[in-house]
Amino acid sequence: MRLLVFSDVHANATALEAALRACAGRWERAVCLGDVVGYGPDPNEVIARVRPLVSAIVRGNHDKAASGVSDLGGFNPVARTALEWTRNQLLPENARYLQSLPVGPVEMDGIALVHGAVEDEDEYVFAADQALTGLLASRRPVTFFGHTHIQGGFSYDGARIEHVELSPKPGTHSAVVHLEAKTRYLLNPGSIGQPRDGDPRAAFAIADLEKRTVEFWRTPYDISAVQDRMERAGAPEALVLRLAFGR
Ligand code: ZN
Repeated sequence: MRLLVFSDVHANATALEAALRACAGRWERAVCLGDVVGYGPDPNEVIARVRPLVSAIVRGNHDKAASGVSDLGGFNPVARTALEWTRNQLLPENARYLQSLPVGPVEMDGIALVHGAVEDEDEYVFAADQALTGLLASRRPVTFFGHTHIQGGFSYDGARIEHVELSPKPGTHSAVVHLEAKTRYLLNPGSIGQPRDGDPRAAFAIADLEKRTVEFWRTPYDISAVQDRMERAGAPEALVLRLAFGR
């Protein structure tokens, strides 16, 4: 079974639609690693799209804060401004949906889903030594995580921990990683709605656990259309600009 794995949509409906169009017909089930909302201009539209799409989902820190599960204390002023705006926009039914999202890890056929780290949903996993803790702690050999908005991840074969290298074939939008036997993986599909790895295109992954492959995808979308909607909504300029840089 092929699984669409996506994360950190951050209320960017244009990026989500572009990603779904790009991979139409290539997956059977979809899973989401949280941060459905926050930063972007389309919180209700994105929830309406994601909700019927996913067969499993975990909550992100922005989902918690936007729906009142947590307060805005841990966020920087720019993120806080966007979250206050999101809180005012959310339809009550959509706020209730965000409140109902489960804490990771959520486990399913051979994989686990988390937003941040395996043992702490709010922790950012940037470095190999941090990743090792999760690689050892996860109850599944393949764990998907989000939160950092950086596509890629880590592998551990019992002796060495390594960065997963993504080298897209020329002329294609995806890089294929083959999952080795007896190796544990912590893999990040990247962010749909606000990539931060220097590539502004929407990021996601398609996993085929029978064939033991994970395709890491990038899809261009109409960034300026999203920026226009953010400006009309009064979003902080830093949030508007960063979409174009993928930072
Ligand atoms: Zn996020």
